Amino acid sequence: MTDTEQNMIELQGVSKEFGTFLALHATTLQVKKGEFLTLLGPSGSGKSTLLNMISGAFASTTGKILLNGVDITNAPPRKRGIGMVFQNYALMPHMTAFENVAYPLKVRGVSKAEIKDKVTDALKRVGLAGFEHRKPKQLSGGQQQRVGIARCIVYSPSIIMMDEPLGALDKNLREQMQDEIKTLHREIGTTFIYVTHDQEEALNMSDRICLMNHGGIVQLGTPDDLYFRPVNKFAAQFIGESNLLTGTVEAGGRLKLSTGYALTLPSNAKVAAGQSCQVMLRPERIRTVAAGEAGSSATVQTVAGRVEGVTFIGSMTTLAVELPDRTVLKLKLTSLPLQSRYKVGDAIELCWDAEDLVVLQDEA
Ligand code: ATP
Repeated sequence: MTDTEQNMIELQGVSKEFGTFLALHATTLQVKKGEFLTLLGPSGSGKSTLLNMISGAFASTTGKILLNGVDITNAPPRKRGIGMVFQNYALMPHMTAFENVAYPLKVRGVSKAEIKDKVTDALKRVGLAGFEHRKPKQLSGGQQQRVGIARCIVYSPSIIMMDEPLGALDKNLREQMQDEIKTLHREIGTTFIYVTHDQEEALNMSDRICLMNHGGIVQLGTPDDLYFRPVNKFAAQFIGESNLLTGTVEAGGRLKLSTGYALTLPSNAKVAAGQSCQVMLRPERIRTVAAGEAGSSATVQTVAGRVEGVTFIGSMTTLAVELPDRTVLKLKLTSLPLQSRYKVGDAIELCWDAEDLVVLQDEA
């Protein structure tokens, strides 16, 4: 199989200008057949602009868009076979759930009998069997979005794009619907392109995440890549929590912080002595050590400090620990029973494995 056959959507140097404002820098991106790709980034980073160019809602300023190897850069939206689900559901208020879902089949001239079968099946898939006769205002937000999804899958588009589809729902319902959308993707096997600014949603749902900022792609990879191997400070801070430490590389592969404290760098760090360098350490990779207990391997770094902040959120406790050089590290511990919890002012010994440090690149 060639690359072009595997890549359902391919963007080659696609950019978008609104007047003099460059909303999307020249972007190259391949979306594989059947994958769940999420565009993740803060507000204004260009996610919807990118989505709208794939759907054809916006014309690109430069570049080429290929669908299954065919140039669709100038093809009108309806010729692209792409289904859309929007945050605001975009249902027709005077139509019932059945009529809303039937609409895309009707405009395609599908027979009444086939419409009935397909709409019934689509509503069943999204858990709305029995709700056919309700109008949107007689449905909850989650149910309305299920109608929106049914209306999209009913005509079997080759790509399904969802722009913040769960943005209007509360946290519990969001989590439930994340699982439902994941199951739907697994069952129908269609390529999904999903937009969210919620990093947990992206980590939970995606095969790959395309992290965007300021109209460009910062990092493209699996949820594991983005969480455990962020490329730069923006990626490290946007996804999960992080301790960021900056210093100068010493001969022998240690990083000397401006405070004088030195960290052992991971063995794969590509750094040169004298270079300034920033590293990240996830709070949950830091452990506490019982007094006097030595590290279990040569790469384990141990340091004594003092607790200066405690945040208890039920299952987890976050500690802020100040080291003798005034560096403050955040760590996350599974919450302990009340009598064995740390208090502000307690002495504490911490350790981590140098291999858990991630060397960050400078931001472009
Ligand atoms: P959000 O999460 O808030 O929806 P986003 O990442 O989807 O943000 P876009 O909607 O793609 O961001 O917008 C990217 C940039 O382009 C923003 O600065 C926005 O103001 C600008 N922009 C988007 N649409 C237009 C338009 N029609 N005219 C002018 N500028 C636009």
